[in-house]
Amino acid sequence: MKIAVIGAGIVGITTAYELAADGHEVTVFERRGAAAEETSFANAGVVAPGYVTPWAAPGMPGKVFSHLFSRHAPVKIGLPLSGSDIAWMWKWWRACKLDTYLANRARLQRLAFYSRERLHHLTAELQLEYDRSPGYMVLLRSEKDSKLVQPGLQVLREAGVSFKEMPADEVRKIEPAINTDTQFLGGIHLPNDEVANCRQFALLLKNEAQRSGVNFEFNTDVAHIDKSGPGRLLIKGETSPRSFDRIVMCAGLASARLLRPMGLKIPMAAVYGYSISAPIREPLNAPRSSLMDERYKVAISRLGNRVRVAGSAEIGGTLEGKRAASIQTLYKVLHDWFPGAAQHSNTGASVQEWKGARPMLPDGPPIIGNSGIAGLWLNLGHGSSGWALSCGSARALADMMAGRKPDIDMEGLDISRLA
Ligand SMILES: Cc1cc2nc3c(=O)[nH]c(=O)nc-3n(C[C@H](O)[C@H](O)[C@H](O)COP(=O)(O)OP(=O)(O)OC[C@H]3O[C@@H](n4cnc5c(N)ncnc54)[C@H](O)[C@@H]3O)c2cc1C
Repeated sequence: MKIAVIGAGIVGITTAYELAADGHEVTVFERRGAAAEETSFANAGVVAPGYVTPWAAPGMPGKVFSHLFSRHAPVKIGLPLSGSDIAWMWKWWRACKLDTYLANRARLQRLAFYSRERLHHLTAELQLEYDRSPGYMVLLRSEKDSKLVQPGLQVLREAGVSFKEMPADEVRKIEPAINTDTQFLGGIHLPNDEVANCRQFALLLKNEAQRSGVNFEFNTDVAHIDKSGPGRLLIKGETSPRSFDRIVMCAGLASARLLRPMGLKIPMAAVYGYSISAPIREPLNAPRSSLMDERYKVAISRLGNRVRVAGSAEIGGTLEGKRAASIQTLYKVLHDWFPGAAQHSNTGASVQEWKGARPMLPDGPPIIGNSGIAGLWLNLGHGSSGWALSCGSARALADMMAGRKPDIDMEGLDISRLA
């Protein structure tokens, strides 16, 4: 089949690769000049399937509210807040019910474990070399943090994830560069999880896709999907639509706007987050892998010769308006744990400061599969875990498009969930 993929973020790239691997003739349209220039650009890089759970969870509304006015709050509400942001928050609040949460958690974890398997398969098969480090450590500053993570540990047990709770001195053996002045309770170590550079992987897989015949059209903005017939789309600046057998929507946050004229209302919101990336000053003072400061929900990741610190969840506001306090929280957390790791970590010199918009559905899982409109397929709404979910989502979508049964149960991962 002749297939158009809209968007060259991590989801679009993995999708294009898998479709080409199945023998389709694929064209990717990307409005930016290169792949992974938007949300897939500088995320935390964590691939920890046991921790891929919905942000809509019982008790979350209370936690969010209690944090709202504190200086280093992990969750914030920005201004302006649009009507659709408020509608999204209402849907999110409703999805926090226990039975909804449990169903969505099972869906997400099924996909996340499968996705990690696919990521490892592709990495080995294509011999891809990108910055990655094994292991993931959740840092607990106090007894209070420890109590708060207990329900999460139960989730890991149920999912059969191997982890170890350990006191601070054992954590220091695994991550010897942790600040000796920082007192903390301990950590949870997940040896089979990892951190890896999403953008680098996307660029490498894009090259592999190109080698398999995928045609990438960069600086090409899809204006809309043409309603005059199935599989047609109009590129900005062109007068007649281009025709395909199928279109796959992988446009991240922009997907909702492109789908609305087709009668598909996808309740997607931008949940903004930030990262800072800096060259490592002294490798002995840097983290070995990825650590999550449970109190501030900030990840500190080793990505090759750089350290990346990422966190914050902000609804409302704009992508352009960076909130200085959120970036300061990242510097604070880095300084608390690894003060000597990065070059000029508190002056901003040679540091890349980035704000990204998680394409988030209110209840958590993405939407993968047939849209119900002839010729139009969806792979979108991967929220806070698009990197960890991308390889599995792409393979499952390609299987469904070929009329094959995917390797995992896709119940609740398609558009019928929104009905
Ligand atoms: C601070 C932060 C930390 C994160 N940490 C992690 C993490 O540790 N692990 C994890 O798994 N995930 C993480 N994420 C989430 C992850 O980054 C996203 O889920 C993922 O990048 C989404 O990928 P995507 O391809 O759907 O979207 P994008 O990367 O945004 O790609 C969409 C693409 O579509 C293009 N596009 C849009 N409209 C059009 C159009 N009309 N025509 C042509 N092209 C178009 C865009 O230019 C863009 O390139 C994090 C996110 C943030 C913000």
